[in-house]
Amino acid sequence: MSGIPFYAKRWVSGATMPEALSQTALLNSKKISVTLDLLGENITSLEQAKACTDEYVEMLKQIAEKKLSSHVSVKLTMLGLDVNEDVCFENLKSILQEADTHGNRVALDMEGTPYTERTMRIYEAAAQQFKSPEIVLQAYLHRTASDVERVLKANGRLRLCKGAYKESAEHALQKMPDIVSNYKTLATKLLREANRVCLASHDDSIINYCKQEIKTAAVPKERYEFQMLYGMRAKTWEAIANEGHNMAVYLPYGEHWQAYYSRRLAERKENIFFVLKNLFRD
Ligand SMILES: Cc1cc2nc3c(=O)[nH]c(=O)nc-3n(C[C@H](O)[C@H](O)[C@H](O)COP(=O)(O)OP(=O)(O)OC[C@H]3O[C@@H](n4cnc5c(N)ncnc54)[C@H](O)[C@@H]3O)c2cc1C
Repeated sequence: MSGIPFYAKRWVSGATMPEALSQTALLNSKKISVTLDLLGENITSLEQAKACTDEYVEMLKQIAEKKLSSHVSVKLTMLGLDVNEDVCFENLKSILQEADTHGNRVALDMEGTPYTERTMRIYEAAAQQFKSPEIVLQAYLHRTASDVERVLKANGRLRLCKGAYKESAEHALQKMPDIVSNYKTLATKLLREANRVCLASHDDSIINYCKQEIKTAAVPKERYEFQMLYGMRAKTWEAIANEGHNMAVYLPYGEHWQAYYSRRLAERKENIFFVLKNLFRD
């Protein structure tokens, strides 16, 4: 039985790995790939961090065994970054080793600014030893243009998103038109220079802009992927896949859904209306 409350089920695929894997198979049948995410962050015990690491290793085995089209996304604070950076890196290495064995990919989700530089450093070190790591960069941060240069020097594999954490003007652009404009500038460069860029957004102006850039620069299909979150714009996933683009859905699962769910409510007022409407349904 899923332990996810009905109002969060739109964004969380289930409480357990088998539930998430069966959703993955369903999406794959519609030509949609997945990035699987075990929910949980800011873990305070190394035992918990090890248990999460083991679950990711098992996830990668299951993806390979079941021949699913899915990579994985992981937050470094789930692997113990708040407790011990060296242990966190060792945990990450176990996951990357398993992913490399299967020719799979591991995206390091980007968290708030207290973690940006450490996440970048760990990614850079990991990219020297493994094929599988990808980093996430956030278009709202002032530092991102220079982080793009670092990623291009490392392995050139990343996801670009707007950024989901509340950040001050010291660190981040505050106005949505400025964030969108920076996203487009960065996407233009990455579509030409990155080994693989995942374009994570539900925003039509960004998606249409990127489609045009892909056409203009004749970007080969293996060098880019559109990505959206589970629960948001399902018809658009299929439309993008049917146009012949790589399309992946970020599919979270697990009991620790609260922080992720709160970010989804904070970023779009329509998501709050959706929850309220369902709270008062017959
Ligand atoms: C795959 C993926 C991975 C992510 N990983 C990270 C990460 O590691 N770190 C991080 O900080 N953030 C991450 N994010 C979140 C991201 O930073 C944004 O907070 C989030 O995607 C909202 O920005 P947006 O561009 O998607 O659209 P928004 O800014 O929420 O919306 C912009 C416009 O998009 C359209 N739109 C949006 N949703 C809908 C809808 N449901 N139906 C119709 N139209 C809609 C509307 O026109 C809306 O005005 C990720 C997002 C995705 C998709």
